[in-house]
Amino acid sequence: MESRKEFLQEILNINSKYDTELIGKAYDKGRLLHEGQLRKSGEPYFIHPINVAIILAQLGMDEATIIGGLLHDVVEDTEYTREELVADFGEEIALLVDGVTKLGTIKFESKEEIQAENFRKMFLAMSKDIRVLIIKLADRLHNMRTIEFMKPEKIEEKCKETLEIYAPLASRLGISTVKFELEDIALKYLHPDEFKDLQEKVSLRRSQREETINTVIGEIKESLDDMDLKYEIYGRAKHFYSIYKKMKFQKKQIDEIFDLIAVRIIVDTVKDCYAVLGIVHTMWKPIPGRFKDYIAMPKPNMYQSLHTTVIGDNGEPFEIQIRTHEMHEVAEYGIAAHWKYKEGDTSGKASTDDIKLAWLRQSLEWQKDINDPKIFLETMKMDLFATQVFVFTPRGDVIELPAGSTPLDFAFKIHSAIGCKCVGAKVNGKMVTIDHTLQNGDIVEIVTSANSSGPSVDWLKIAKSSNARNKIRSWLKKENKSDSIDKGKDLLDKSIRKKGYDPALCAKTAYINRAMKAMNFASTDEGYAQLAGGGSLMSKFCNLLFSYYNEDNKIAEKTDESVLEDIKAAEAKRQKLENRKKDSPGVIVKGTDNLMIKLARCCNPVPGDDIVGFITKGRGISVHRKDCSNVTNLPEQEKARFIEVEWEDLKAGKSYDAEICIIGSDRKGILSDISRACEDMDIHLSGVNAKAGRDGSLTMSVILSISSTQEMQKVLRNLRNIEGVTQVYRAKA
Ligand code: MN
Repeated sequence: MESRKEFLQEILNINSKYDTELIGKAYDKGRLLHEGQLRKSGEPYFIHPINVAIILAQLGMDEATIIGGLLHDVVEDTEYTREELVADFGEEIALLVDGVTKLGTIKFESKEEIQAENFRKMFLAMSKDIRVLIIKLADRLHNMRTIEFMKPEKIEEKCKETLEIYAPLASRLGISTVKFELEDIALKYLHPDEFKDLQEKVSLRRSQREETINTVIGEIKESLDDMDLKYEIYGRAKHFYSIYKKMKFQKKQIDEIFDLIAVRIIVDTVKDCYAVLGIVHTMWKPIPGRFKDYIAMPKPNMYQSLHTTVIGDNGEPFEIQIRTHEMHEVAEYGIAAHWKYKEGDTSGKASTDDIKLAWLRQSLEWQKDINDPKIFLETMKMDLFATQVFVFTPRGDVIELPAGSTPLDFAFKIHSAIGCKCVGAKVNGKMVTIDHTLQNGDIVEIVTSANSSGPSVDWLKIAKSSNARNKIRSWLKKENKSDSIDKGKDLLDKSIRKKGYDPALCAKTAYINRAMKAMNFASTDEGYAQLAGGGSLMSKFCNLLFSYYNEDNKIAEKTDESVLEDIKAAEAKRQKLENRKKDSPGVIVKGTDNLMIKLARCCNPVPGDDIVGFITKGRGISVHRKDCSNVTNLPEQEKARFIEVEWEDLKAGKSYDAEICIIGSDRKGILSDISRACEDMDIHLSGVNAKAGRDGSLTMSVILSISSTQEMQKVLRNLRNIEGVTQVYRAKA
């Protein structure tokens, strides 16, 4: 086994900038912990983590990842706990080790291709930090390099798993060096005869080919030396597994494979790439259909290069690849290239990283949903795959959905007919409602009912996937519902104006929601759709709105009734109050009880607010915030009707409606981010009124159930942190 000194020297040889003090500390700890453990080969176990760490250094990973590699087995295989790990090496390292340990628990059974792809995606999704995957790949690579010591059936299992899961994963991340090596080792053990045969054939033809290639390289050099151009050029042997795949799946003989050896030219700039291509095409005739511009159209794993196949002087075709140094780095190391130390480059790093990451973001196909590069750069948690969840049908099929998806999304993904009749779901055997948020790994069974009335407009808010939303929308369109919501809103606006009220004041979210509830509409949108019919429904609705408005805003007009009378009226309702005690507002009037107390709808006070009671006519005490405009604007002679009130001891779980105004940009997904933020805080969101401005702004008013002013502060803070949100404040009455 390598000594501490040898190991650290090797790391420094790879890159002299590595901090060997920290890495040395991890070496000492790992060596101590694995003391006495042996590998199947009989060697000390710690050889394995050392080699994993070296692979990671060769990939150019940062110190944290190298240390994660050195310690990747300590929590699972030794007495060392996560807590000790955090204390010794910090939270970042602990998260990496934790991630690798957790990935180890996913069981891959032999699956069909499609299933393997799904598992690979789930694998990606479940590792929050992409460095975890890279450690896992290095771990697998070293285990494959030393696989000869395993039992034959174990070898077969590991090789299959490597071809199905790990090599494609490496490919997906663009780490081609690891991908090729994994594939060639797996091929060697899974099909030893074919591998040997291939080896012989390739080497038989090698000397002959090398001669051809050297001639070609000489000719290209001659042409390029005439130009003012810096370049590197060399021949490149193809990997066995790719030849094997071509022969097997394209049913080709080895002679028919063009690119057994190819020429690679590396230049400084993209412009040079195309210049070199032009020169090459004047030297030899390109084969039509074999030119590929991966610079203009990068592969999903970020690979960029120009490929062309030309016919050589002796009539034999060969492939030429042209790329820049940076593209070459990405081609070899993929996403790992992001961590690669750049020699002497500190100033321009941020901007090239920006470009690389933005490019990465665009390229990775499962990331289609994020459309703002800032989201990614800001968080920098490498939380690449958290935009999706993977859940299972009861039969074990994997269903992929956007993060935050609900049983509705799941149901529509299965079939429209199931979606339209969905009334709930069983998640992991427990009944949930259709708006339940699904988590990775949930087993979901949809509950349908023949009596279901089908999708309503609310479903558009519940469904997160475009698939489900499109299907719901088209169903609603058929039922003519979605247009009628807008029609209902317009008509309401007109009706309010007609009666001489100002819709901006009268149709506040709080009033609207209250009226919708009073009318027994299933939801606000459902209500608007119904109101589109106008008629008595509309006038009843307007009257409700007016009464709420008047109740809150015209308290000053009630001068003719005495305070006593009010109290008497309240007294008369004592019985009713008793019954409602359990949803009492949590406010007490000093020195008395049995009074009917209501929280004013105009300012929606929550516990902790400074409040004052107002003795109304016949409706008991209305509790306002002290800064409510209805209180501050009250004429002097009315102030006698104020009464001191205070909050009861906070009852656990009791919450109050509060109206919050949010101003931000009208970006895609902002509403769902807001609702997710509320969900994360466990805050119920009961109403949303959003208006998009022509300038791309969005003004929203939401009703949230809040239990205290402290909670209110937290909510305001968290909402302000949402991407695109510029202002959040509590609605002023
Ligand atoms: Mn390991």
